[in-house]
Amino acid sequence: MTELSDFKTLGFIGLGAMGKPMVIHLANKLPPESRIFVFDVVEAVVDEVCSQFPDRVSKGSSAKNVAEQVETIITMVPEGAHVRSVYLDPQNGVCSTDISNKLLIDCSTIDTATSLAVKDHIAVNFPSASFYDSPVSGGVVGAIKGTIAFFLGCAESDPNVKRLTYLASLMGKQIIPCGGPSLGLAAKLSNNYLSGIIAIACSEAMDMGMRSGLDPRTLAKVYAAGTAQNTICDKFCPVPHVFPEAPSSGGYKQGFKVQLMRKDFGLAVDMAERVGSKNVLGDAGLQTYDGASKDPRCRDLDSRVVYRYLGGDEDWQAKLNGA
Ligand code: NAD
Repeated sequence: MTELSDFKTLGFIGLGAMGKPMVIHLANKLPPESRIFVFDVVEAVVDEVCSQFPDRVSKGSSAKNVAEQVETIITMVPEGAHVRSVYLDPQNGVCSTDISNKLLIDCSTIDTATSLAVKDHIAVNFPSASFYDSPVSGGVVGAIKGTIAFFLGCAESDPNVKRLTYLASLMGKQIIPCGGPSLGLAAKLSNNYLSGIIAIACSEAMDMGMRSGLDPRTLAKVYAAGTAQNTICDKFCPVPHVFPEAPSSGGYKQGFKVQLMRKDFGLAVDMAERVGSKNVLGDAGLQTYDGASKDPRCRDLDSRVVYRYLGGDEDWQAKLNGA
C-alpha cells in the first residue's frame, strides 16, 4: 500500500503552462498535512501559486533550497539544458545538497542522453536517491483537467512504482511504466514522432481529396470507416470545422504548440539516429515542423497548423455554400 504520509513534503520546480496546473492539482488533492515547496526562475508565477494556497504552498529560493526542504521533487522545465541546470548546477542545483533517500521525478520532455546523465550523476553521488524520467502527454488542457498520461521510466516491478503511480494519479489518468530508465522518454518521443507524421499525412490527404472536389467531412467519415482511421483526424482534424472541438476549429489557438512539436520531433529523429533506426519520413517531418515553427502564420499555434503551412484551404465552407 502507498502511504499518503510519503508525501508530507513535496517540491515542484518549473511552473509553466504544464507545471502550474499540475501543482494546483497536487495542492488540491494531497492530504491536508502535506506541504509543497515551489520554484521557478519566473518569480511572478511562484508568487501567484503561493498566494492561491497560502497555508499549503511555500516559495523556494532555488532548486537547491527546495531540495533541502522536501523528500520528493517533481521537475517540469522545457529542455535538456534546463534539466541539467536544475539538477546539476554546482551552486543552486538539486544535487548541490544532500539528496540521499529522496525521490526525484523529471516530467520534462528532453533527450534520453541528458536524462541518463542526470540519473548516473545521482546514482554515483547519492546511491540511496531515486531518479525517474516521467514525461507526460495530453497537453495544457489535459494538465488543467487532470487527464494527462504519464510514461514512467521504470519497470512495473520497480519498488517505487506504487508511490509514483499514486502521485501521478493526482495529476493525470493513465500511468504507464515503460520498462526502465529513459524508456518513458523514448516512448514519448516515439509517440510524438508518430503523431506528428500522422498530422502531416492527414493534412496532405485531406488537401488532395478537397482539391479533387470532396467535402472534408466526407473524407473524415471515409478515413474513420476505412484503414486510415486515426485520432488526429477524428479529434484533432487539421482542417478547420470538421471536428468542432479540434484546435483547428478555434483558429489553432488551444493545443500543442508547433514549436514544441518541432522540439520533440527533432529529439525523436536524433534518438532514431543514435539507436540505428532508419526513418525515411524523419527529414521531411523535421523540415515541415521547422518551417512551420518559424512561419509567422503558424508560430505559437497548435501543431496541426501544418495544414495551413502546407497550403490547405481553411475557407472551404464558404466555397461549398457557393459564396
Ligand atoms: P513552459 O515554457 O510553459 O514552462 C516551463 C517553466 O520552466 C517556465 O515557467 C520556466 O520559467 C521554468 N524554468 C525554466 N528553466 C528553469 C530553471 N532552471 N529553474 C526553474 N524553472 C525553470 O513549458 P511547458 O509547456 O510547461 O512544458 C514543460 C515541458 O513539458 C516541456 O519539456 C514540454 O515539451 C513538455 N510538454 C508540454 C506540453 C504542452 O502542451 N505544453 C505537453 C506535454 C509535454
